[in-house]
Amino acid sequence: MLPVFDGHNDALTRDDHADLARGRGGGHLDLPRMRAGGMRGGTFAIFTPSPGDGSGGQGFAARIGRSSPPEAPVSHETAAAHATAVAGRLLRLEREGELTVARRTADLDAAEGGGPPAAVLHLEGAEAIDPGLEALETWHAAGLRSLGPVWSRPNAFAHGVPFAAPSSPDVGPGLTERGAALVRACGELGILVDLSHLNEAGFWDVARIGAGPLVASHSGVHAICPSSRNLTDAQLDAIGASGGLVGIVFAVPFLRPDCANDADTPLSLIAEHARYVAERIGPEHVALGSDFDGATIPAELGDVAGLPKLVAALGAAGFSGEETAAICWHNWRRVLDAWWR
Ligand code: ZN
Repeated sequence: MLPVFDGHNDALTRDDHADLARGRGGGHLDLPRMRAGGMRGGTFAIFTPSPGDGSGGQGFAARIGRSSPPEAPVSHETAAAHATAVAGRLLRLEREGELTVARRTADLDAAEGGGPPAAVLHLEGAEAIDPGLEALETWHAAGLRSLGPVWSRPNAFAHGVPFAAPSSPDVGPGLTERGAALVRACGELGILVDLSHLNEAGFWDVARIGAGPLVASHSGVHAICPSSRNLTDAQLDAIGASGGLVGIVFAVPFLRPDCANDADTPLSLIAEHARYVAERIGPEHVALGSDFDGATIPAELGDVAGLPKLVAALGAAGFSGEETAAICWHNWRRVLDAWWR
């Protein structure tokens, strides 16, 4: 089975996260289903829900359709407490021998070669980091290797893109001064900076700083699906020029031309987004970023165990075996290696 590295999941913050190792009753991802689908590595997000979303993020998937009211900011204190606990869930799985929290490229290679799966610890929104960035060192020591300055709401560092469709991603101002300092500090420490959820002004600010290859871990193509969460052709071109990648998202509102949150969506649409990016900037800039357990995905795929069906769909869309292997694993490896140095 082809090894897959998936660029984004939200399984750690689901209510039944305690069953990740032995298998959850529902949802998209757990360790037994990762084995069944060939997912040997992936990025595990720590996400702190907005105030009022008391469901621990469970209500969020239902809201990411066409347009939703702006998300309320989260305080540093709330996010720091929540994120520390969620990171503990992943570190415990590592201590129990279920997975490796990937800290260096060799950890990815070991997982590809059949070792325990590699889990990249990711902060989706940097509210847990103090504006003075002292906690960034602590988080790096705990294994943090990927960070999105914002989720789709404002914070001390940047302005997240609100969920809207049809809409340009060019909504709101760019990075704050502290946000620019955060991006530079991530470059120095070797923490990948993720552009999914950032608005367009913030995207270009990160591009100008040039701390590493530009990466949108779970996004789609704006020319196919005109959601604010998707990437314009100009953004794709910048990603290609930087040596970065797009993790093609499986979330249906960011795949479908009508942006509807409808699971009755063909799997081939994921391959269509991949094809568009490959034709515009090259297959070496295409990867996968499911958003498992964070969104509605095509029913035809089902869950992470369905990944071989997606691999087949990439082949049917005209990707060679070598290109498909790169999309599924090696492109993520190259870009993580460039950031981690
Ligand atoms: Zn997300």
